[in-house]
Amino acid sequence: MQKISSLTLVLSDTCNFSCPYCPQQKGKNTLKIEDIYDFLDLLRPRLDREVWLGFYGGEPLLSWPLIKKTVAYAEKNYKNKFRFTLTTNGSLLKKEHILFFKKYRFDLVLSYDGLAQKIRDARSLPEVETALKNLQHHYPDGYVINSVFTPQTVPLLAASMEEMLKRGHERLQYSLDTCVPWKKADLAILEKQLDRLTTICVRHQQKHGKMPLENFKKNEGQGIFACFAGRDRLALLPDRTVWGCYLFYDLLGHDRQSRDYAKYSFGELEGFMAGFKKGFPAVAANYAELRQDYFFSEKKELCSLCDDLERCAVCPVTAALASGTLAVIPSWTCEVKKIGRRAKARFAAKPDRAGVSMENTHA
Ligand code: SF4
Ligand code: SF4
Repeated sequence: MQKISSLTLVLSDTCNFSCPYCPQQKGKNTLKIEDIYDFLDLLRPRLDREVWLGFYGGEPLLSWPLIKKTVAYAEKNYKNKFRFTLTTNGSLLKKEHILFFKKYRFDLVLSYDGLAQKIRDARSLPEVETALKNLQHHYPDGYVINSVFTPQTVPLLAASMEEMLKRGHERLQYSLDTCVPWKKADLAILEKQLDRLTTICVRHQQKHGKMPLENFKKNEGQGIFACFAGRDRLALLPDRTVWGCYLFYDLLGHDRQSRDYAKYSFGELEGFMAGFKKGFPAVAANYAELRQDYFFSEKKELCSLCDDLERCAVCPVTAALASGTLAVIPSWTCEVKKIGRRAKARFAAKPDRAGVSMENTHA
């Protein structure tokens, strides 16, 4: 088995938001600190030299004591093994948290939808805006803002990113909610928005010499995409079950009797620990089949025959949340991916101030 380089702790399934695009099942489960210690200690011999340890929720800051205890345990028993990451909606993020995250060099993901935030949760605006100012002041290079757009909010995409660029945030990324259908008209708006965003980003690069948008940065790896779940990563969920990636729980966790639950769940923590040597490889083998060239569209067109195969990467769970079946990709997801790739290519081809294409400057 490959070494583990990424672990996610879904501390609880409780959240103080109810975002329209969140696929997570909400509940009142919370991990116990002993579960986290057991999980880390069991996997110790399998851990890579450096491992990303991610805190996720619900809203993970609702479980602040768990975060502090886990970090203290990791620092004491796994010196410099872990790089920490945490994803938050920002509404509970105070200076005290930010200074702690800075001390332990966390890579933070702040979920904030720019001009669409008021549609997502209008009451959250003052707290999240304050958190953003605090981050910018105390830990400017420690976070990325992830902004999610839906067919309803996509007309706000370019202006939202432009506003955040103007405010000087160092890392931004947009995400698109493909769990819901994108009609032809929505896709046309997306294309226009990304075209406008390309122009904005080129101007920004010319003026400031850097480009904060992660989506337009050059990918390191090429070749056929494979889902990472169960290969080099695992997740511990708040009901104490173990999965290859937390997203599988969102898709399958509600039905313990289903065939796919048995296929992709590593079981509850005790079972996972007791049967680690035997049970683990059998379930991991199922994850290994989740490769882009094994996927196909709802019209039964195989990705392996698509010209874009080596440039495309679709999360099989996100696709299944829309299509109902793992490895089956809805038609709008193909279109959304193609539009994103075209925008990235346009950005790479535009000359910068020195007349050199962006592609070259990134090489
Ligand atoms: S564009 Fe669509 S068909 Fe082509 S590889 Fe991507 S998901 Fe598969
Ligand atoms: S592709 Fe999707 S399911 Fe696989 S590891 Fe990435 S986010 Fe998780």
